[in-house]
Amino acid sequence: MRGVKVPRALAEELRVIMARRGIVDKTLAILDDGGHVMIPVLKEPDPEVLAKFHASTFDGQFPSRHTRTDPIDQVRASVSVPEELKLLLPEKWEQLGDVVTLRLPKELGPYERDLGEAYAKALNAKTVLRDIGGISGDYRTPVVKVLFGTDTVAVHRENGILYKLDASKVMFSSGNVDERMRMASVQCEGETVVDMFAGIGYFTLPLAVYQRPKRVISCEVNEISYGYLVENIALNKVGGRVEPILGDNRDLPGDAFADRVVMGYVKTTHEFLQTAFRLLKSGGVLHYHETCPNELLPGRPVQRLRDAARDDRVEVLRFKEVKSYSPGVSHVVVDARFTRTS
Ligand code: SAM
Repeated sequence: MRGVKVPRALAEELRVIMARRGIVDKTLAILDDGGHVMIPVLKEPDPEVLAKFHASTFDGQFPSRHTRTDPIDQVRASVSVPEELKLLLPEKWEQLGDVVTLRLPKELGPYERDLGEAYAKALNAKTVLRDIGGISGDYRTPVVKVLFGTDTVAVHRENGILYKLDASKVMFSSGNVDERMRMASVQCEGETVVDMFAGIGYFTLPLAVYQRPKRVISCEVNEISYGYLVENIALNKVGGRVEPILGDNRDLPGDAFADRVVMGYVKTTHEFLQTAFRLLKSGGVLHYHETCPNELLPGRPVQRLRDAARDDRVEVLRFKEVKSYSPGVSHVVVDARFTRTS
């Protein structure tokens, strides 16, 4: 039997990533020796992912997993939904701390309260939300309905970082986990970094917790997200190097002082490039996110950077898909060096 051995502190994050990719052998039990966790796998995981988590593969024995019931089986067994509709029960959900968000097909609408309770029990969650409108508006707010429980505030742990947020008011994209992990390893010792779309600290926190920037200026326009950003800076003890700012990033004062600018936003990010280039020093690095139809990749995001830089120079350092955003549309990130020519 093939297994992956990973340090205990990183095991849950790696398990989630591998489970999403269908690599975890769910028929076998996960083992824990205190220092490391051994996860049974069906095939060899991506070596880059293994390296990121300080994990390795090995051949060994795993006991079978008769004893634990899959949460979805528990839900199926406990809900009073007509048998033919049980096929529609969601087998995936978003769990942030002890708050769960579900997407339910309309056929299950009449049973939503019961389902909320059943998923809460099966997943040991205090609150269950129903996603009824995705993520909306400039503040990227989730549109949800509470099905079970009352307290929608969660503390989510990922990569050793605590993210406190109200899951009914503030988004958290699990799909961006690789990018948050990458930010934790971006070398930025002594740098001044500006996070233009800080949210609750999605990218600010990994950078500030795992690297040694001189200063991270984290700008957020939504008062609710800003409140959690301030709390998360304290929770993760990075107050000495992170300066939260409430307001529109276009109003940030100063020119050419940032070694690095992070633009973790989608849909209209390019409209903020003039601000990013104003803030960046010559030779500084930009992490530019964009959602782009696949047929326009990789040209459009790079062209947008060049158009906004006008006579100044933009050198692409790295181009990567973060995730699939919607059918035919990708969320990508371009790292680019910006050099002034005038
Ligand atoms: N990259 C994040 C992740 O990993 O999940 C998600 C994007 S985050 C939600 C984007 C944030 O930018 C939101 O909190 C939104 O309120 C904020 N924002 C939007 N326009 C802004 C502006 N002009 N100035 C500052 N913050 C802004």
